[in-house]
Amino acid sequence: MNIKRRTAEPYKIKSVETLSMLSRTEREESLKRAGFNTFLIDSQDVYIDLLTDSGTTAMSDAQWGALMTGDEAYAGSKSWKQLEQAVRDVYGYEYVLPTHQGRGAENILSQLKIKEGDFVPGNMYFTTTRAHQEMNGATFVDIIIDEAHDPSINLPFKGNVDLTKLQALIDRVGANKIPYVCLAVTVNLAGGQPVSMQNMKDVYELCQSYSIDVMLDATRCVENAYFIKEREDGYGDRTIASILKEMLSYSDGCTMSGKKDCLVNIGGFLAMNDEELYIRSRELVVVYEGMPSYGGMAGRDMEAMAIGIREAVDDHYIEHRIGQVRHLGQQLLDAGIPIVQPIGGHAVFLDAKAFLPHLAQEKFPAQALAAALYVDSGVRSMERGIVSAGRDIQTGEHIKPNLELVRLTIPRRVYTNNHMDVVVDSILSLYEKRDWICGLKMVYEPPTLRFFNARFAPLAESGKLIDEENKVKQIS
Ligand SMILES: *Cc1c(COP(=O)(O)O)cnc(C)c1O
Repeated sequence: MNIKRRTAEPYKIKSVETLSMLSRTEREESLKRAGFNTFLIDSQDVYIDLLTDSGTTAMSDAQWGALMTGDEAYAGSKSWKQLEQAVRDVYGYEYVLPTHQGRGAENILSQLKIKEGDFVPGNMYFTTTRAHQEMNGATFVDIIIDEAHDPSINLPFKGNVDLTKLQALIDRVGANKIPYVCLAVTVNLAGGQPVSMQNMKDVYELCQSYSIDVMLDATRCVENAYFIKEREDGYGDRTIASILKEMLSYSDGCTMSGKKDCLVNIGGFLAMNDEELYIRSRELVVVYEGMPSYGGMAGRDMEAMAIGIREAVDDHYIEHRIGQVRHLGQQLLDAGIPIVQPIGGHAVFLDAKAFLPHLAQEKFPAQALAAALYVDSGVRSMERGIVSAGRDIQTGEHIKPNLELVRLTIPRRVYTNNHMDVVVDSILSLYEKRDWICGLKMVYEPPTLRFFNARFAPLAESGKLIDEENKVKQIS
């Protein structure tokens, strides 16, 4: 007999947090109070929270234990030494500076390296990273391969840089206008898509020949290492730790959000091999973050992060992490639910345009689907579509992005695969009654970053988001 052996979480549970399980009526009321915006729902009213994987990690018993041994000295803290050593050991960079989170490191790097009129190429942008580059006078240039912008194309390394785009930019503006290449591993906005080792090597070699630095956005670098192990020739037998070290050797430094692949709830760092850049960065850390021996973190936070950095490169941990995202995504794919392919490292994205084809984009299909999912099962997700895209500054019209998505982001070590099954069942059930889900109108629109605080109301005359009783097809 051919038995398919299943695997389970590589940890057992020592402390539990009871989940709140509201009735459907209570969820409807909660959603109404929140203006049909999942960002505005009280977390107490959420059953399974897939809003983000940022800072939502469950710490290990070793990390919780270490909180007690944190050294809160203003200078020369032992906890800082632990963190610095962990970064040197696991990431391989010589110089490390602590920051309160990833964007603190982005601020310092951008200020020091960018001059007015520079260009910063990157494999798709990340919101805060690009904001810091632009605030310092740079123009961001997207050099990711074209396929990354198409949700239906299945490629093993959809986060790769298109080297001809990078070369073309160098030819057009000159290497002296490019302070560094910002390389994200994995690419969050492309759906957690990885970059291959070969591509990292090629980018680094090209940049070296022009004396351009490569600075990584290493936020999800451990997840990227796992995809290399799985998909790239010659890496199948290597440990995640050794793959990660090799990846980072093709760079000059990185910014890091500890809230993702360092397995903590807050923190970050800036690391590099260039001593002069380190000395200048250290000056700015004092101004913006705190002393270079804590950088906005408590001693106990640094202690926990030092341990999280080492735990994250455990082969069993990362295999389960990526496996759990796939456990959710593959079941949806098998059932014919439209999702972004291939399944990435930290989230599964529902294609709301294909899920709710009866809703024009101005009726906010992804917002409506995220709201319907909450009503159906108490699962919280996030809109990544027309609401998040905002309005064109010139014309005042909605920007209509190609992708109209609902993001289901999985926190690290928090939920079991049973929770993922609950999410699958809810989505399948919604898919069956998708014709009865109506669109939304925006009743309050904040002037900036509207997705955080916008409020909506259902378009249907019944005032119901999902009209199951009447089975009225919501034409709009
Ligand atoms: C979260 C994130 C950041 C910013 O990190 P913070 O810790 O939230 O400041 C930068 N880049 C990527 C890809 C991220 O996901």
